Amino acid sequence: MQSVRFGWRTVWHPISTPISDNLPICSAVMRAGASPGYAVAAMRSMSGRARSIGSCQSLPSTAWIASYMGAPIIIKDKVVGFLNVDSATPGFFTQTHADRLQAFSSQAAIAIENAQLFEKGLHELDERRKAQARLRRVNKNLETQLERVKSLQEQLREQAIRDPLTGVYNRRYLEETLTREIARAERENLPISIVMMDLDHFKKINDSYGHSGGDLLLKTLGKMMLTVTRRSDVVCRYGGEEFVVIMLGAPLHIARERAETWRKTFESLRGAHNHAKIQATISLGVAAYPQHGPDGPSVLACADKALYLSKNAGRNRTTTWTPDEK
Ligand code: GH3
Ligand code: MG
Ligand code: MG
Repeated sequence: MQSVRFGWRTVWHPISTPISDNLPICSAVMRAGASPGYAVAAMRSMSGRARSIGSCQSLPSTAWIASYMGAPIIIKDKVVGFLNVDSATPGFFTQTHADRLQAFSSQAAIAIENAQLFEKGLHELDERRKAQARLRRVNKNLETQLERVKSLQEQLREQAIRDPLTGVYNRRYLEETLTREIARAERENLPISIVMMDLDHFKKINDSYGHSGGDLLLKTLGKMMLTVTRRSDVVCRYGGEEFVVIMLGAPLHIARERAETWRKTFESLRGAHNHAKIQATISLGVAAYPQHGPDGPSVLACADKALYLSKNAGRNRTTTWTPDEK
């Protein structure tokens, strides 16, 4: 018997002699070298029976082998391969051969482990990319849904502050806006004018053309007001056939001029209803902050009183509130 030392441990592995063709030695060798730190060397001349364990892939003709040495490739205490070196010369392998094979097997183990780590890294990278792509899709969906929710919220908000018949703002929005804008006007020392208008003899319109005829006229007035006012003006339906316009930053004389223009424009309009042309007029009252009141409701009340004066004076006219009129 001859022993060859591998690393810190010497292992003898006897194999049968002669080694016949297709001898399933690989399992025996693997088994012998399966523990960490082991390497195996064996010689054909050694006596003893090969431990044939289970089936193993048949090797090509091995009859010429007179000696061999082998070293396991070990990664993290697990044998992942085996290096086998054969020789036709009996007792060919020396301690130097064994040391080199051992070193080579260690290098091979490192290279294989690195390759495995690289493969694992690539796989993880691929998985991460897929996860990121999934996340992007989910995010996109969320963004779309968020946009939809925002747009629905906007629609709901619009519905809550707009008059459904005429499309102008409703009274609730007017009151909120007036309070906020008067506070701002006070801070920034800006004027605010309020124009209140009311359809003349509207009851007669309803009586003559029916409720749908009256509605048509209300829509016509609303549409006209949205067209003729500035973006900064706030047009609201205050009541049945009464409208209010808040003119931010407009002094009284400008508001009066604008109100007169609107009156004339509306007078010239004709609403087509069931082959009939409906024509009507409006009366208007104008008041302004700060000269007519310190807050929204008081200025609004002055505009209302001015409108009442227009009605009393014969309708289809504009009156600017003057405090001494009372
Ligand atoms: P004045 O010139 O003094 O303002 O007279 P008027 O007839 O316009 O005023 P009055 O207050 O006597 O009548 C207003 C009418 O407006 C009564 C009401 O039925 C009608 N009205 C209120 N809201 C609506 C509406 O949404 N649609 C229609 N078609 N009519 C409405
Ligand atoms: Mg009226
Ligand atoms: Mg009225």
